[in-house]
Amino acid sequence: MSRQASLGDPANSSYITFSGATLGPIVVCKSAMNAFEPLDPAKPVSETRTFAHVDVWVFDLDNTLYPHTSRIWPQIDERITLYIADMFGLDGMSAKALQKYFYYKYGTTLRALIDEHGIDPHHFLDFAHDIDHTSLEANLNLGTAIGSLPGRKLILTNGSRKHAENVAKKLGILDHFEDVFDIAAADFVPKPERRAYESFLDKHAVDPARAAMFEDLAKNLIVPRELGMMTTLVVPKTVDPFREAFEQDAVPEPYIDFITDDLTVFLKGCAKPKP
Ligand SMILES: [Mg+2]
Repeated sequence: MSRQASLGDPANSSYITFSGATLGPIVVCKSAMNAFEPLDPAKPVSETRTFAHVDVWVFDLDNTLYPHTSRIWPQIDERITLYIADMFGLDGMSAKALQKYFYYKYGTTLRALIDEHGIDPHHFLDFAHDIDHTSLEANLNLGTAIGSLPGRKLILTNGSRKHAENVAKKLGILDHFEDVFDIAAADFVPKPERRAYESFLDKHAVDPARAAMFEDLAKNLIVPRELGMMTTLVVPKTVDPFREAFEQDAVPEPYIDFITDDLTVFLKGCAKPKP
């Protein structure tokens, strides 16, 4: 069991709690329960589900490669609200409500604005990602852990390439990645739609049976697991007040192979040679 995370109901493992606060329901499989083991660097990863066959490592960006406490996503969220307020002539509260409706219905606000209003996606992305990166601290330990993984490393994000590169550069980990597959590369079809993953796999010639995906949103791991990828849910060490409740919707097993609240330590476990 991890230092801060615990399964709230060990009898059916239907809920996950963090520091006493229930964030569930996320349904996790037994291998996911075992996945807490790698949080201890002295212990190997699960013996039943290992990363030994993996040679392509795929990472979501926002709230996966940096913690929610960096306050990057709230800034983007606020910029999107501003965009909607200006576009529709709404006050802040009304714009926020419309934004959340779009996000819930379409997966991303951008997708809704393209489909319903034909906006220029590049203008939207430039506006949304025009944020202050000062609060983002370099994470060289994460870079070392990513660098030690055998094989290719790629970022798969619903954001823009420019945003991903800015963030990864500030974190000091950009050089470890071969490329970024962004929302424009996906023809603005966002995760968790199957087409987004299929175009990613096709463009980068990735065999999903030899790939692992790391994500902070459980719903974005369903299709990767169906396609044959190893899946790891990266959960926050503390409650994220900006996380939408519906984003914690139940994900039936066995779509999540592992759960970790410390990506750096977890990756160090993945990189260990087989005994
Ligand atoms: Mg994310």
